[in-house]
Amino acid sequence: MSIFKTIAKHLSGKNKSKDNALMPAYARLNTSFVKGSGCVLHDQDGREYLDVLGGIAVCFLGHSHPKISHVIAEQSTTLMHVSNLFEIPVQAELGQKFCEIAEMDNVFFTNSGTEANEAAIKLTRLYAKKRDINEPIIISATASFHGRSIGALSATGNQTIKEGFEPLLTGFEHVPYNDIKAMEAYAGNPNVVAIMIEPIQGEAGVIVPDKGYLTSIRKLCDKNDWLMIVDEIQTGVGRTGKWFAIQHEDVQADILTSAKALGNGYPIGACAARGQAAKLLNPGGHGTTFGGNPLACAVGLTVIKTIEEDKLVEQAAKLGLKLNLELQKQLSELDAVVEVRGKGLMLAVELDQVYEGLAKKFLDAGLVVNITGGGKVIRLLPSVLISEEQISQAATICRSVIDDVVNSE
Ligand code: PLP
Repeated sequence: MSIFKTIAKHLSGKNKSKDNALMPAYARLNTSFVKGSGCVLHDQDGREYLDVLGGIAVCFLGHSHPKISHVIAEQSTTLMHVSNLFEIPVQAELGQKFCEIAEMDNVFFTNSGTEANEAAIKLTRLYAKKRDINEPIIISATASFHGRSIGALSATGNQTIKEGFEPLLTGFEHVPYNDIKAMEAYAGNPNVVAIMIEPIQGEAGVIVPDKGYLTSIRKLCDKNDWLMIVDEIQTGVGRTGKWFAIQHEDVQADILTSAKALGNGYPIGACAARGQAAKLLNPGGHGTTFGGNPLACAVGLTVIKTIEEDKLVEQAAKLGLKLNLELQKQLSELDAVVEVRGKGLMLAVELDQVYEGLAKKFLDAGLVVNITGGGKVIRLLPSVLISEEQISQAATICRSVIDDVVNSE
């Protein structure tokens, strides 16, 4: 077969059938990355990109971090999996460390954020049973995102991703985010058992609530004997300049869920509990085959220890502020830019309207970002290893891409 025929076959039939084997759940951009280091990704043609998305808030320690690569290699040649039928010392060690940084009493390890939220929802059911509440209600926020399983999707406020999956679970009430009065309206409702909230809404477009919002939720929960669940799946493990975003307000949740950065790319989630919420589960009450296996926990432990030893929580606060200021400096006078906002290394640039092909334009310009918030928000979730030079490079590319899309409208 001639080289041209081979290429033609590759481009038409072969590649197409390969793609067709995947369920079309994603509208993927037409690039595939083959390697990464720190904040830099390389595609199949050898082109370099600055990655300020980090696999959607996952790669907080960047790509190919030597300590993470080392622990995966070492643990995978020692023991990867045994099941939760046996004691797993590294899981116990990670549990202790996680509870220390999250200020919680105990934790259940899962494989994803969604499963961590499922565990949290199940804990609220046990809490309801204890209080003889047969039709329990969890209050969460409109536009919130808590995951895609039926339980987590029922908790989710974002209507668009729920469409087609009805009937969802009953017992979830959604109120506007950052509106404590809307939650207070439920005070005295005997069926409410919990409030479930993102301390900063991620998928909705990096919505930072007013200072005091989480404290007010805590007070409301205390007054009414409701559990406060914070979904820190995107915000947790250092990203916002604290170990967990709730710590910006110096309040504690009853249940805290985490995932993403905890494994830096290796799948792991956590549902942690405190006080009465930590006493709800009994042996056999919940379980997972893979969750908390030695490999996942060795990685999680290395992630936390590395962040601690290298003082990267403080670094996230410092670099986040730098990136925020640099974005403000380079973008704020652009008419199309409504706002630059965020906390630590969880930042967003809101535009005045949806611009067609924005994500692709960013990719063509060599910057990996994500467009969220109904298509108007550029979300930046870079690794804490981002350099000052990369910070200014990211802001410069943002400026030129925004200029470009506005001018081509
Ligand atoms: N909760 C929040 C706040 C999230 O941002 C996400 C994922 O983006 C999830 C839950 C779901 O986590 P996962 O995709 O790991 O299941």
